[in-house]
Amino acid sequence: MALSKDLLDILACPKCVRDPGCTGELEYRQADNQLVCFHCKLIYRIEDDIPIMLIDEAIPLGQEITKNDV
Ligand SMILES: [Zn+2]
Repeated sequence: MALSKDLLDILACPKCVRDPGCTGELEYRQADNQLVCFHCKLIYRIEDDIPIMLIDEAIPLGQEITKNDV
């Protein structure tokens, strides 16, 4: 099941929203169940359709594990 557009519209990177001039906009990767912030290069997981919007739980971009990895 995909996240709703309404929910995606209000979600923002908790790290970047504190930064003036940054919207904290996230890219939704539906196939990987992830939300990606390209500003601070962090990936937020989505578990049971609930985005885990915690900086401590986020994964640095480039170190993510996707379903394609062996
Ligand atoms: Zn960010």
